[in-house]
Amino acid sequence: MISRRIEEDRIRRAKQLLDDAEKVTVVCHTGPDGDAIGSSLAAMHVFGAIGKDVKVVIPDTASQNLQTLPGYKEIVDAAKYYDFACRLIREADVILCLDFNEPNRCGRLADALKDSTAPKILVDHHLHPSIDADVVISHPEMAATAYLLFRFLCRLELFNFIDRKAAECILAGMMTDTGNFSYNSNDPELYIVAAELIHKGADKERLTIQLFNTFSADCLRLNAYAILEKMEINTEAGCSLIALSRDELNRYHYQRGDTEGLVNRPLAIPGVRFSVFMRQESDCIRVSMRSRDDFPVNELCRDYFGGGGHLNAAGGEFYDGTLDDAVAYFRSKLPEIIEKYPLKRNNG
Ligand code: MN
Repeated sequence: MISRRIEEDRIRRAKQLLDDAEKVTVVCHTGPDGDAIGSSLAAMHVFGAIGKDVKVVIPDTASQNLQTLPGYKEIVDAAKYYDFACRLIREADVILCLDFNEPNRCGRLADALKDSTAPKILVDHHLHPSIDADVVISHPEMAATAYLLFRFLCRLELFNFIDRKAAECILAGMMTDTGNFSYNSNDPELYIVAAELIHKGADKERLTIQLFNTFSADCLRLNAYAILEKMEINTEAGCSLIALSRDELNRYHYQRGDTEGLVNRPLAIPGVRFSVFMRQESDCIRVSMRSRDDFPVNELCRDYFGGGGHLNAAGGEFYDGTLDDAVAYFRSKLPEIIEKYPLKRNNG
C-alpha cells in the first residue's frame, strides 16, 4: 500500500472531532476547480456513508464540466443560496476546509467562516496555511487535496466507505491538479491511489473526456483567437503573455472555465519558462501564471499581483486600472524579473 505521511496525532484529533460531530459542513475556495469540488464531494459521500449529516457549501458556481460529478446537485451554492450557506457554516458541529489555505480564498463565505466557532479541520496542499483550524493537515508536496483526502480517509479507516462515486470525485481532483497526470505527477504513489480508485469503479477515460476534452465551439474559437492574435513572446525574459478584455471574451460568449488551461499552452514553446494570462473581470484583472522547472511564479504573483500559489502554478489580481494598465505594469516589471531570475543559458 502507500506510505504514511499524515502525523498520527493529527489523525487522532481529527477522528475525535468527527466522531463527536453530527453535522459536518464542507467548504472550499472561490472559483472552485476539480480538486476543490472533487474533494468536497468525496468527503460528502464518505462521511455521509458513515451516518454524518454532511453539507457541501461553495462560494460560487463551478464550471459546467464539474457539474456532472456525482453529487454536485446536492451542493449548496452560495451564489444562489447565500443565507442558507452561511447558516450551514454557523450551525456545523465541525467544518472541513478543503483545498484552500486562507479564509479570504472562500470569497463571499470568508466572513461566515471567520465568525464560526465550530471546530475546523483543514486538509490542503497550498503553502503556508493561515486558517485558524483545530487540526491542520497541510501537505504542499501532495499533488492534489483529493489525493491527500484519500490518505486522510484511509487513516480514519474509511477506505471501505469510498464507493464508486467518492472514488470518481477523488480521481477527478487528482486529474485536475496534475493536468491529467501531466505535471506534478512524479510521485509514484499517485498511481497506486489512482489504481485503487479505478478498482472501485472510477472511470478514468470518461473523466478525461468530461474534464479535459469537452469544449463548446465558442470556447475552442476563443482559445484559438487568444493564441493566434493575442499571445506575445518575450525571449529576453523567457515569458509569454496573453491578455483578454471583456469585449474579447464577450465576442466568444465566455463562460466560466472557457480559458482553463489556456495559460499552460505557451509553455509548449521551447524557451518559454513562464506564461502569464490576464483576464478582465468585472472588478479586477485576474492574473494567472504557470512555469516550467524551478521558475517560481508564486513569487511573481506575490510580489506584483498580491497573490500566490505553487512554484509552477500561481495567481493574483490587479486592481489599479484597466487591462492595458495591467499589461503595461507587467511589462515595466520585466527588467526587474530578468535581473532577479536570470535566464540560464544552455539549460533548456
Ligand atoms: Mn488543489
